[in-house]
Amino acid sequence: RKDFVLGGGLVGRITGTRRVFQALRDVSLSVRKGEIVSLVGESGSGKSTLAQVAVRLLDVDGGDVAYRGEGVTHRKGKALKPFREKVQMVFQDTGSSFNPRKTIGRALDETLRLRGVPRDRRQPLSVALLERVGLGDFVRKRYPHQLSGGQRQRAAIARSLAMNPEFLVADEPVASLDVSLQAQIVNLLIRLRDELGLTLLFISHDLALVSQISNRVAVMYAGRIVEEGPPDTVLKHPAHPYTRALIDAIPKGLDGRRRGLARRDGVKPDRSLPSAGCRFAPRCPLAMAICRDVEPASVTITQGHRTECHLVDEAKGYPPQQRPTR
Ligand code: SF4
Ligand code: MG
Repeated sequence: RKDFVLGGGLVGRITGTRRVFQALRDVSLSVRKGEIVSLVGESGSGKSTLAQVAVRLLDVDGGDVAYRGEGVTHRKGKALKPFREKVQMVFQDTGSSFNPRKTIGRALDETLRLRGVPRDRRQPLSVALLERVGLGDFVRKRYPHQLSGGQRQRAAIARSLAMNPEFLVADEPVASLDVSLQAQIVNLLIRLRDELGLTLLFISHDLALVSQISNRVAVMYAGRIVEEGPPDTVLKHPAHPYTRALIDAIPKGLDGRRRGLARRDGVKPDRSLPSAGCRFAPRCPLAMAICRDVEPASVTITQGHRTECHLVDEAKGYPPQQRPTR
């Protein structure tokens, strides 16, 4: 059963800067109950926009958001409240996700009050929530700045759990933490999925990280999902040149140096690109003439593995073995 669906033909528009650009185009994503689905791509690829559309923080302009079989696209106010509670978001720890003048205990207390938990139940419940994320009781008395980045991120997860969610959307939850802490937070999220039966949409720019934890990976580029599949398949048999570039950028060996496209040229996807052709064509080492004129359609390679690239021949059913030239 699909628990969370974003319909195809989705267009998200963000205004506020001088130009209006299409942040997402023809994006379709579904997440099944209990799954961890990861969205991977560079900053500016539309991952956060898609996540915000999914949790209804951003409105969609043509397209649908459905949760457990019910459309929530046009719900507002009270009608949206049950959805808002069941679907919680965890952000990258920027130090600003908590009010600096309130203790963590008070922040948890307020969230529990929002959920309608009676006063006398709130303290024991917040202690239990902190324990669930590996934090001691003492954290209740601390202000956000008195915690380490890792502790603060755990506290933020505890607060999102205070709403008793079914679905967590974690937007770069470990991006600001060092590598050993990243692993701890990721393991915590997996444990919570198992213990609480959560469903997770995990957003990251780190393909290596997400492939260890996800049931499915969706690679985003310039507002589109250009490849989607089981992480093993996507890592071992990447079909899209952009996915290959992401894999090449994974540090190999002890020097930890990143290679490949990500460092070789700093061109960011331009979201004001004309819609003709493949959006990756200006950066693609394998681009052909057709790529500049015709937008590649979605091609299924093997069951559950699809991509949008002219190199992939549906008849042959398998991507060519060429690698991008350096
Ligand atoms: Fe490269 Fe063409 Fe494939 Fe786009 S469609 S990724 S330009 S080969
Ligand atoms: Mg982002």
